[in-house]
Amino acid sequence: MKGTGSCLCGAIRIIANNLSNKVGACHCGMCRKWGGGPLMAVNCGTDVSFEGEGNISVFNSSDWAERGFCNKCGSHLFYRLKERKQYIIPMGLFDDQETFVFNDQLFIDKKPSFYSFANKTNDMTEAEVLDKYAGN
Ligand SMILES: [Zn+2]
Ligand SMILES: [Zn+2]
Repeated sequence: MKGTGSCLCGAIRIIANNLSNKVGACHCGMCRKWGGGPLMAVNCGTDVSFEGEGNISVFNSSDWAERGFCNKCGSHLFYRLKERKQYIIPMGLFDDQETFVFNDQLFIDKKPSFYSFANKTNDMTEAEVLDKYAGN
């Protein structure tokens, strides 16, 4: 499906032409450090464009991925896989929130014990995530 969204200050508009409706939560330490809590985001594939691109700053977060944010308001805009140019975008940025389904939890073994989601989801440990996405 197609999705549009924006950062908090509105300097950046997002157009995602191939947006998944399945929300995944990532509990890894990097995501929690980045956002102050688990990252809830949707896979947007590679067909993503931005208006106001000059307001985007990109942080090189690992060998394989980078994280973009609005340099005016600090909203987190994307987690991007460098090689595939694939975008994972925080679901809260999108204009229409009602089409989303909470489907997966990643790095479930890294989740601190003081919180947990009640939704029934597909949960993957760090080892399972690495197995699936490293392709080995
Ligand atoms: Zn902004
Ligand atoms: Zn993460």
